[in-house]
Amino acid sequence: MTLPDPLAQDPELEAIIRREIERQNTTLQLIASENFTSPAVMAATGSVLTNKYSEGYPGKRYYGGNQVIDQAEDLARDRACALFGADHANVQPHSGANANMAAYLAVIKPGDTVLGMRLDQGGHLTHGSPANASGQLYNFVSYGVTPSDERLDYGQIAELAREHRPKLIVAGATAYPRIIEPEPFRRIADEVGALFLFDAAHIAGLVAGGAHPNPVPFADIVTFTTHKTLRGPRGGAILCKAELAAAIDKAVFPGLQGGPLEHVIAAKAVAFREASTPEFADYARRIVVNASALAEGLAQEGLRLVSGGTDNHLLLVDLRPLDAKLTGKVAQEALDRAGITCNKNTIPDDPRSPFVTSGLRLGSAAVTTSGMGPAEMGEIASLIGRVLRTVSEQGADADVSDVHDEVNVLCSKFTPYPELA
Ligand SMILES: *Cc1c(COP(=O)(O)O)cnc(C)c1O
Repeated sequence: MTLPDPLAQDPELEAIIRREIERQNTTLQLIASENFTSPAVMAATGSVLTNKYSEGYPGKRYYGGNQVIDQAEDLARDRACALFGADHANVQPHSGANANMAAYLAVIKPGDTVLGMRLDQGGHLTHGSPANASGQLYNFVSYGVTPSDERLDYGQIAELAREHRPKLIVAGATAYPRIIEPEPFRRIADEVGALFLFDAAHIAGLVAGGAHPNPVPFADIVTFTTHKTLRGPRGGAILCKAELAAAIDKAVFPGLQGGPLEHVIAAKAVAFREASTPEFADYARRIVVNASALAEGLAQEGLRLVSGGTDNHLLLVDLRPLDAKLTGKVAQEALDRAGITCNKNTIPDDPRSPFVTSGLRLGSAAVTTSGMGPAEMGEIASLIGRVLRTVSEQGADADVSDVHDEVNVLCSKFTPYPELA
């Protein structure tokens, strides 16, 4: 696969895309919400399906000429239902945030009480942060992790539910390294008469590959992104019980969005097919094995893993045992200079602000896609340890170019897009 020729007519943009290919091919991508999608997914995203207006749903469109588009969207919906065992799928949400807002619009009213995980404990902006429309429109009550083991305590969540009688309970997280059990949430929701939404944005690929419990049999609604562990195009989707299908569809369009991105929906169909293969199940398993290996390596470097380790693709690192003065911000910037891309992240009860933080969030999905295994995870852990010790000893602007050279050598053996290099 090469870059499409027509881009040569826009050398300014072509040069930018070439620089990004170079960056992705030669540096380590450890952002837990990122992945490398397949050439087939990119081909669908770059197809003529981008040209079509198709407001509505297959068989019920506002404009003519959608007989072919309907087939693409039906394929995506059918494959999503088959992959996760769902009654109904809406594949139109442009993103995970839109999928969540549409789910809320479908089943609750402004002012209604909702139970969700707090952002600074691992939840997502769309789970009621005051900075997000979800927190402004709905009365979110938050749960977090316990101070003792930094895990969800289902007994504590049940107590909050009994006290606040929410209409909706939201499970799911953006920075929680442990399995979130859907079954206890179902029991709590039933006890207080609430609906149950599971936001599987991060773990959809692990669920599809059988490496994480499937929330679909337990939740009324499951939202997810297609671009994280699922390895598809950037976008969102909603699965729900048959009785909520009409409300969910109405909430996505015309409730929240305009014309769907049918080229991206076609790419979602490609990803759902890829995720249904035995190779993908093996991939999901290797993501988890690699995250554990990375966690072990980082612990050996003197770092503390929030909750003591990981069950999924994601790690939260507490920097303070290595250096109480080292912030997530300084660590992220130094690692970036060494060609190691990750993000600063608050850890539970972080004394520092979300712009500074005491932690880092790392993920194993992208490096697993590029073919790396546990041995490389050990190497990455030691490279991270070297960068952090260097800035700890020599200051925030310390020279880490020797690590960058080693990162380049490692990446040259595991290039995600060699055919684009
Ligand atoms: C990433 C994420 C989202 C939002 O996805 P976007 O596509 O960035 O809008 C929603 N919920 C959770 C738990 C996430 O991790």
